[in-house]
Amino acid sequence: LELKKYLMCKKKNLDFYTFLKNFKEQISSLNLKNTIQKDYILKVLFFSDRHLTVEDIVELLKKHYNLDIAITTVYKTVKLFEELNFITSLEIEGSPKYYELNHSISHNHLICSSCFKIVEFIDQVIELKQQEIAIKHKFTLNNHNLVIYGLCDKCR
Ligand SMILES: [Zn+2]
Ligand SMILES: [Zn+2]
Repeated sequence: LELKKYLMCKKKNLDFYTFLKNFKEQISSLNLKNTIQKDYILKVLFFSDRHLTVEDIVELLKKHYNLDIAITTVYKTVKLFEELNFITSLEIEGSPKYYELNHSISHNHLICSSCFKIVEFIDQVIELKQQEIAIKHKFTLNNHNLVIYGLCDKCR
């Protein structure tokens, strides 16, 4: 059971090895170096069910894989992953950036401005409305992310 959970990620609807293979091919095709560090950083992001800061990633690499990767290496790597669209980030005022794997499923976020709790949601009406707005302004929609800032239940 543990292993199965480890290999498959329901939300992303694909297994890690397929994802990693695809990733390595893209890295090579861009003439970038494939490294063990990149693989593990990607792995941490892939299996996380929450949004992670660079510090969280460093901590999880140590905790799960007993790896000490310098924080500056992790910074550089996530920056590259974001440029390559493997991951996306959330900017929150007063907090470091949060990263997550780029889901193929478009979703939106609610963020608590006090404790930085992040909640994801999908709403068909909002999805359609955003498309409608893009069309109205003669934009082709690539990506969108609606963020609602407020106070969560606990912080209110
Ligand atoms: Zn809160
Ligand atoms: Zn998210």
